[in-house]
Amino acid sequence: MAEWKLVIHGGAGAMRPVHGDEDHVERARQGLRDALDAGSEILGRGGSAINAVEAAVRVLEDDPCFNAGRGSTLNAKGLVELDAAIMDGANRRAGAVAGVRTTRAPISLARTLMERGPHVFLSYEGADRLAREAKLEQVDNEWFVTDERRRQLDELLAKGGFDSEVKYGTVGAVAVDAEGHVAAATSTGGLTAKQWGRIGDSPLIGAGTYADDRSAAVSATGSGEYFIRAVAGHQLAERMRLGGQSLQEALEGTLEDIR
Ligand code: ASP
Repeated sequence: MAEWKLVIHGGAGAMRPVHGDEDHVERARQGLRDALDAGSEILGRGGSAINAVEAAVRVLEDDPCFNAGRGSTLNAKGLVELDAAIMDGANRRAGAVAGVRTTRAPISLARTLMERGPHVFLSYEGADRLAREAKLEQVDNEWFVTDERRRQLDELLAKGGFDSEVKYGTVGAVAVDAEGHVAAATSTGGLTAKQWGRIGDSPLIGAGTYADDRSAAVSATGSGEYFIRAVAGHQLAERMRLGGQSLQEALEGTLEDIR
């Protein structure tokens, strides 16, 4: 039996104090603890890495402190469009969705696609339609929107619009379970004031999300365009598998290549 492990992130920028909200950082920390608890509970009783990363990310999607699910950033039209992906390193099965507008838990929609096949990646109306067919909870797009995200969008638009350096708390989890299988999950609203239809790295298998038992599980956060061009998740894993690098070397080499 392997020792199980779970690592989560609340994204680049999540801990930035929110405008006029003294308690934001403490609430975000509590959200991270809750997500760790949800995933650890599964792994601790011998559950799978794929179930653990889905459970951890679901908690963060529902937490308005983070840029995933409720509390996601708004695109330039003031809409929430959500991206998510999940991958099982045991067999490299994966599910990814982009431009989701009405599905409360995009990570579970990605998981549903992974389980049902035959495709790996669905977008926009096709993704929400699958969610409805699978009876996943549907909400109005407005349900995802918080006052703070509206304020952030207005502020950015007043300054001239999209800025790839402004990032707010994409979420992700990677785990290895007691059987030694790894999994990764990532969920995000993307970047504030992104162009309508923009898809980031998070749902792109091999860029922001990747898992392979022969190497590593990866969930990225940062300006997605950089991660896409470097195929960051896959690059990191293949540095280990084919290049014989340690996790640390592969991470440093990949980050170096992204710049
Ligand atoms: N990587 C995400 C994206 O580009 C943003 C983030 O990590 O905050 O959509």
